[in-house]
Amino acid sequence: MSPAAIVLYSGGKDSTVALWWARRTFREVTALSFCYPSRPKAEQLTANAICREASIPQIEVELPFLKTLRDLREETHVYGRADAYVPARNLVFYAAATFYADAYQCSTLVGGHLRSDGNAYSDATPEFFLELQQLLRTGLRGSFAGAASGPALTIELPLISLSDQQAVALGRSLGAPLEHTWSCWEDAARPCEQCKACQDRQSAMGAVQAQAVHRKSVEGG
Ligand SMILES: [Zn+2]
Repeated sequence: MSPAAIVLYSGGKDSTVALWWARRTFREVTALSFCYPSRPKAEQLTANAICREASIPQIEVELPFLKTLRDLREETHVYGRADAYVPARNLVFYAAATFYADAYQCSTLVGGHLRSDGNAYSDATPEFFLELQQLLRTGLRGSFAGAASGPALTIELPLISLSDQQAVALGRSLGAPLEHTWSCWEDAARPCEQCKACQDRQSAMGAVQAQAVHRKSVEGG
């Protein structure tokens, strides 16, 4: 078992699967959560509750400047695109995570990005993370882990080749508390069940549930 990892953790189902994967793979795991204006408060509270219940140490970092283009346009009237895209989000997240990795002498960062994330965002592709890992290693050379010959920083992406449904199945096999996670883009007492995140979640969880029922009936029959 490897010594330690920092998991970038939102409280959503994908990062929860990654967190449970890391718990099985590393001796010590710390969850790192970023608080920024467009993140639903419900997601933050979910992340806090899951870490507390599972006794996983959690670091929360405030990133108040990190906003969607929609929010930025409302504030400044400068930005033309009014969408939910957050500029350079993963670059900012992983740079901040690298600070904690170096400070805590932890050589592994774990992210719960799916294959489909890379289709939607150019800062969530396997190629992006490979180049980022190389860049971070270059930047940390000579100081990481407090020694010139310390271990190289590694970005682990256990879900990067998985579909939504495969990630749910992996989470189930690891005993991750998927029912308690928060996927909705809205900030309300309950998920809206209308947004794309809610719909993708329902279809992936439903498909895995249907497969389990089918398997049981085949085994039973
Ligand atoms: Zn929703």
